[in-house]
Amino acid sequence: MVEAGVKTALAARVESLGGCEVKAGEPLAPLTSVRAGGAAEALVRPRSPDALVALLKLAREEGVPVSILGGGANTLVGDGGVPGLTLKLPGDLFPEVADVGPEEGRLTLGAGAAIVRLINIMRAHALVGAEFLAGIPGTLGGAVSMNAGTKNGEAFRVIEAVEVATADGVGWLTKAQVPHSYRHSELPPGGVVTRVRFALRKGDVVASKAVMDADLGYRKRTQPLSQPNFGSVFTNPPGDHAGRLIELAGLKGYSLGRAQVSTLHANWIVNLGGATARDVLGLVTLMQQRVLEQSGVDMKPEVKRLGDFL
Ligand SMILES: Cc1cc2nc3c(=O)[nH]c(=O)nc-3n(C[C@H](O)[C@H](O)[C@H](O)COP(=O)(O)OP(=O)(O)OC[C@H]3O[C@@H](n4cnc5c(N)ncnc54)[C@H](O)[C@@H]3O)c2cc1C
Repeated sequence: MVEAGVKTALAARVESLGGCEVKAGEPLAPLTSVRAGGAAEALVRPRSPDALVALLKLAREEGVPVSILGGGANTLVGDGGVPGLTLKLPGDLFPEVADVGPEEGRLTLGAGAAIVRLINIMRAHALVGAEFLAGIPGTLGGAVSMNAGTKNGEAFRVIEAVEVATADGVGWLTKAQVPHSYRHSELPPGGVVTRVRFALRKGDVVASKAVMDADLGYRKRTQPLSQPNFGSVFTNPPGDHAGRLIELAGLKGYSLGRAQVSTLHANWIVNLGGATARDVLGLVTLMQQRVLEQSGVDMKPEVKRLGDFL
């Protein structure tokens, strides 16, 4: 169990490297959208790419586990906390670069930046193409790792290249060098996405804004956005909807501890206030079991688990 607020030897060791902000025993629940779970043994925010690589080297040499937290919009942290280093890239680690021509434009942003920064810069340069990302919370690094998207498109449709840091250094990979599929991408083992380059085109910005506004309106009507959650609990099985199957299994509105299957959308879990990761995971497991019994479908969780679950 990671104790909140206790300075660990690990945090002191990382601090001595320089170039990073380190917090020992930092509670992670406030850094996740579902607001549950324990503390990081050491939450580290590198202040430069060099500091990040030095950190990854130290972790490799000393056998320290490294976890990456983006915006925490698709992450459930265990109640036992996260051992080792939890990395969080600052949003402003890199300058934003726009290379825009008469027909198209390339935007390069740091992976710690929020997805909404991409949308704002796209609009500022009269570019279009990433509308489907507009309502998705989290960072660009998380969007790459999850290949985030909607039925209207996925992140890799507009990604041209990603920059990845490992203990051996930093380098760019083209989209073709990063295998990706529905809500999944295969980054190099231990790789941390540091920058993302998007290829967009000039287009009708009024129509683009209308599409994004309509998507946001739809989300407000159909998703429990006023309660802490992590979006869809399960990926949609081929040709079906996880929400439909969960509702069919009779679990819409079902509570376990302080976690509840949303009454608005059955593929979402909401934190009613004070939910533990145990409550949430218990509900995830129950949803999975009941749907398997009822419909014979083995649903795959979309949410990522981080740390120790008690
Ligand atoms: C209200 C709500 C609505 C949502 N709607 C959608 C939706 O429509 N479509 C959709 O796809 N998702 C949706 N989600 C889920 C979530 O927004 C996406 O999965 C998003 O891409 C997560 O980004 P993040 O930065 O928060 O990732 P995190 O939750 O912090 O991390 C997710 C995974 O990415 C990894 N990761 C994060 N940053 C990096 C990095 N720099 N390098 C390497 N790995 C990294 C983490 O280690 C983890 O495995 C929704 C979530 C919420 C709360």
